[in-house]
This record gives sequence, C-alpha cells and structure tokens, in this order.
Amino acid sequence: MSRRRQIYEGKAKVLFEGPEPGTLVQYFKDDATAFNNQKKGTITGKGVLNNRISEYLMTKLGEIGVQTHFVRRLNMREQLVREVEIIPLEVVVRNVAAGSLAKRLGIAEGTQLPRSIVEYYYKNDSLCDPMVSEEHITAFGWAATQDLDEIMAMTLRVNDFLTGLFLGIGIRLVDFKLEFGRLWNNEEMRIVLADEISPDNCRLWDIKTNEKLDKDRFRLDLGKVEEAYQEVARRLGILPEGGPTDLKGPKTMQ
Ligand code: UDP
Repeated sequence: MSRRRQIYEGKAKVLFEGPEPGTLVQYFKDDATAFNNQKKGTITGKGVLNNRISEYLMTKLGEIGVQTHFVRRLNMREQLVREVEIIPLEVVVRNVAAGSLAKRLGIAEGTQLPRSIVEYYYKNDSLCDPMVSEEHITAFGWAATQDLDEIMAMTLRVNDFLTGLFLGIGIRLVDFKLEFGRLWNNEEMRIVLADEISPDNCRLWDIKTNEKLDKDRFRLDLGKVEEAYQEVARRLGILPEGGPTDLKGPKTMQ
C-alpha cells in the first residue's frame, strides 16, 4: 500500500494516485462509521463486498448509458476510477420512508412514498452534512442550475434502474445516496456518477420479510452485519470466488 501516494482518506475508503494521470485507485476498507462518526466499528469483509457490489452496479449503469467514474476493478479491495472534481453534495433518493425522513416528518418507517423524493445535503462533516435546497447550491456556487438538472435526470434514471434490478432479486430499494463529479476533457465538462453504490449507502429490505440488508444493521446494532452484505452479493450472483471465508482478501493483489 505504501508504494502509492495517498490522496485522501475517508471513513470507508482511501484514494491513491492511479497508474496514469487522471486516474485514482479507490481502496475499500472494512471500517464503518455512523451518526456522523460518533459510532465506529469494523465489518469484516465489507470492503471486499462493497468493491465487488459497486463494481457490478456501476458497470450495469454504464451499460444503460449512465456515465460513471468507474474504470475497472483491480483486486479484492481496489478499483481504478477516473479522477473527478467531486461536487460537494450528497444526493439522496427515497422511495419508502425510513431514517431521517421518517424521523423528521413523523412518517412511519416503511410507508411507500407517493413518488420518489430527491434531497440534497451539503457534504461537510464538520457541519454534519446539512440538508440544502437548490437555492443554496446555486447561490453558493456548488453547482449550476444546469448541473443540477443533469444530476436530477441521472439520479432518477439510476433510481428507476436500480429499483428494478433489486426487485428482481427480492430486495426493496428503500433509499440511497449518490455523489457526482465533474470530468474535464479539454474545455468540455461532463458530470459523472462517482463514489460507490453499496449497502453502506443504500437501504435494502428483503421484499417478503422487510429484513434490513444494509448498514442499518450496524447503525442499529441488529447483528449479522457481514451476513447481510454477503446476502446482497449472493443474490446479485457476485459473491467473491472463495466464498464467505475469502472476504478478508489479500491487501494487494495485482
Ligand atoms: N446516506 C449515506 N451517507 C450519509 C447519509 C445518508 O450514504 O452521510 C444514505 C443512507 O445510507 C440512506 C440514505 O442515504 O440509504 C438516506 O439516509 P438518511 O437521510 O435517512 O440518514 P440516516 O438515517 O442514514 O442518518
């Protein structure tokens, strides 16, 4: 790991300089945090599973024409991505009431929403990621109105596609968080999907039992956290080759 220059260390991932200019290596850790860093822990094998799950979902989205930062998976814990200028927003899509929406608006968890709701949060840990409106985003220059139009269109497309994909494997996509970045090509700018899509940033419920198959198991101390992530990978048909016993994975493997 030390052979590469570290660019950034986040809560669940580390970014290293990539092999070519304009690329980065995204390394998935087993570390888990919740409630704005107040709860910390480790979910054994999470990094391996999230690397694989995010690769799968980003690839599928790429196949339907959603542009992403994902290039290819390098090994058990690392993937090559394009270096983008991250737009400092967390874009949350909700299909079913849960988490902060259920709490803030007093809507029973599990209530089907009349339509998908998209919310923006300003990505800033020291401010606990406050919710913001399009007005704040454009006034403070985090994104232009036309960027937001594109982000909204991409977000709804991702939601439609992933809702169907998860439904096909008996999972309800309750809500999830996306991040976007700007990719520059000479003078031209494109907005692409960045970060990761995994049970760390989605709420995934079993369609029949409503069992939670995501990070809420860690947040709420429900137990069987690793097993839930594994179950998502298993249903997607992508459990790592060695099976559940192989989840620690070699640190580096080219
Ligand atoms: N989420 C996330 N990162 C965050 C906040 C939320 O990935 O910093 C995801 C979360 O996993 C859930 C969705 O966004 O799938 C909506 O989260 P919510 O606003 O309900 O917040 P939470 O209850 O997670 O604090």
